[in-house]
Parts: sequence; structure tokens; C-alpha cells
Amino acid sequence: MSTILTHFKTLTQLPHCSQDATKLLAFLVDFAKDRGYRTLVDDAGNILLSKGTPTLCLQAHYDMVCMGKAPQIETYEEEGWLYAKNASLGADNGMAIAMMMQLMDEGREIECLLTSDEEIGLIGANAVAFDLQSRFMLNLDSEEEGEVYIGCAGGVDIVASKQDSYRKAEGVCYEVAVKGLMGGHSGVDIDKGIESAIKVLGEYLVTHHITQLASLYAGERRNAIASNAVAIVYSQEVLTSQGEVTVRRLLERPLILSEGHRVIEMIANFKQGVHAYNHTMEIPEVSINLAIITTDEQGGISVESSARAMSAEGLAHLSDETVAFFESYGLEVSLEDKYPAWRPDISAFTHLVSEEMQEVFGSSRLKAIHAGLECGVIAQKYPQITFASIGPTIRYPHSTREAVKLDSVERTFSVVERIIKRLG
Ligand SMILES: [Zn+2]
Repeated sequence: MSTILTHFKTLTQLPHCSQDATKLLAFLVDFAKDRGYRTLVDDAGNILLSKGTPTLCLQAHYDMVCMGKAPQIETYEEEGWLYAKNASLGADNGMAIAMMMQLMDEGREIECLLTSDEEIGLIGANAVAFDLQSRFMLNLDSEEEGEVYIGCAGGVDIVASKQDSYRKAEGVCYEVAVKGLMGGHSGVDIDKGIESAIKVLGEYLVTHHITQLASLYAGERRNAIASNAVAIVYSQEVLTSQGEVTVRRLLERPLILSEGHRVIEMIANFKQGVHAYNHTMEIPEVSINLAIITTDEQGGISVESSARAMSAEGLAHLSDETVAFFESYGLEVSLEDKYPAWRPDISAFTHLVSEEMQEVFGSSRLKAIHAGLECGVIAQKYPQITFASIGPTIRYPHSTREAVKLDSVERTFSVVERIIKRLG
């Protein structure tokens, strides 16, 4: 253990924020060469280190999210956890690299695939094209001991827009607002019963027979359940605040969108949330989030949504259905930032990983996540390789509170060693 921790501390002294990790890249290549490993670096900054005729490839990303004082990192231990003073620690994913360094010290016949810029959109993983010898790949970027990840969702952002025109309104003008709802991640929190501010607003408008929409500004980020939504509308009946909806009468009389009623209808009819559930993995199988809707002063309407599914077929179906839905409201649709699903798959390899996890930690759970993972992207490129993902317990990654549980590092390393031994 102590050597893994020493290796990790060495890494913390080499800056490796996303897009600024060349010092660490050079260090890792030299480290591997000194120990007799073959080294390859591609144009995206991905690194492949290998020795002998390996059957197992270990995989991690070598960039980190720099928060607070990072990349100035001063580590300290407290009650069995390692932290950095007022900085993110980079145990995500540096602790995995420290383990690989330990295995290279021991001269193990393995491959190590180190990807660049994972934290800013899986940049390196998308470019990986090395010839890999291994039949198995173990990603080390999971963050909970006793868990083996065997799948992740694929996704695509479905964005739509149209050009509308303005005309004069009738009735009384109101601002209708839903503000400060809980929000959450549009993948992993989509089944937690969190209300979307956009849907709450839309239902209020439909219930009150609102057809005149002057403007709409709703949602925050594509990968988040909307917390806020504000519309300026006209009503023939008197509107009042109700539940999470706050209503305020306005004296100004802005113009309304000619087809604003169709935007309101579209929001009300959008099938927000989980469309299908995966009972084996106890996560959503298919889901969609209406993330952002905005109107602009020229009459432009823009809609952004993110779709996810645990299989390629599921994603294609949801994507087609959503494109047709938006088109039926006269919007032009395009697909952006697609990433592949890694379909949950229980194989001999995931069993083996799970058994060793059970031996070391006393428990093991096979898990999948309803969000994208780096190894999903890599898995799609190497259909002949079987994947699994594990990692030591890390709390609050990407923040100055990031901490890694030290005995978890030691035990995760022994799981890795046992897997290497069993694969021969
Ligand atoms: Zn990570």
C-alpha cells in the first residue's frame, strides 16, 4: 500500500488538469520505459503501455478536474481518508494510475490504457485506436468499493428549433414562474421523482387554457432536470399562484409568438422521464429529459433534450420517436453529442471480477449506470474485448472535498492482483 500512496503523491506534484496534462504524460512514458514497457502515444494524447503477451488491459484517464488550488496539491490524511488542502485531490483517476505504476514496478505482463481529457467530454476515449492484445479490460474509474460496473447508458442530445413571428395579444399579461425546484442529473436522477420545472409550468399553462405565449426561458443545462422555468403569457381568465407556480401580473404588453400555443402543447405532451425500467439492474432502461427551452427576440424557439438508453436499439427507437414528436410541432431537429451504450452483460469475466471483489471486500454487487461512461465508448470499438469497471471508494470527486478511502485503495489493488493471477 505504502508504495501505491507514494506513487500517488508523486502524481499530485505533476500538474494534470484536463487539457494541461503533458507533464504527467511525459512522466508516465518515461516511468514505463525505465521498467521495460513498450510505450505508444497517439495524437489525442492517449497512452498505451504494455509488456509481454498480456491478457488484461487496465484502463484509466489521466486528466483531473482541477478545483480550488489544484493543480497545487498538498495532501493530508484524516481518519483513514486522503484529502488535498483546499483543492480537488485527483484520486479520480490518479489512484488508478498509482496502482498501474505499482504493477509496472512488479514487472507484470499487462497493458495499461491511459486516456486523455475524460473529464471534459471523453475526448481521449473517442479517439482511441490502438491495437490492443488483451481479451479483457478492467476500467478503474468506478468510485465505490464492493461494486462491479458491467454496463452504462448510451445517449444523444436531441435539439430542435424553429423561426416564429410575433403578433399582438389580447387579455391580461402575466409572468408565470416555477423557480428553485430541486433539479438533478438527467441520467442517474431521472427515476427519483424529481419534478421538471418545465413540465410543471407547461401543465399549469394547459390547465388554465393559456394559448398566448410572449416568451419562455426554461432549464439550465442539457444534462440537468430543469429547476427553473419562466413564461410571459396572456390570459382571458384571472391567474393566481398555485403550489410551485408563482404568478405576477405585468403592466407591459409584449407581442406574442404566432405559434406559441403549439409550444405549450408540446411541453404538456412531452413524455418526460423514464420510458422503460431495467428490473435486473434496478435502473432506468430508457429515459428522456426536456432540458432547455428558450425563445428569442426575433421569434426563434429553441428546444434541447437529452435521451438515454441501455442499448443501441433502445436509443435508436427513442431518438426516432422524439425526432418525429418535435417535427409534428413544426420544429427542425438535429442530433448532437451521441455516445454509445455499453449494454449490461454478465460474462465469465464479470463473474471472475465479482468473485474476487467478494473475497476481498466480503460483498460484491454487479451494477450498471444510466449515464455515459468512458469504457462504454471504448467497449464499442473493441467488440472482441470483455469489460468491467471497479475502483476504490472516492467521495465528492470534482470538488475541493474530494477524498479517497485509503484501506479501500489497498483492497482494490489486491482485487486487481487476484484478477491478474487468475487470468494467468
Ligand atoms: Zn474519473
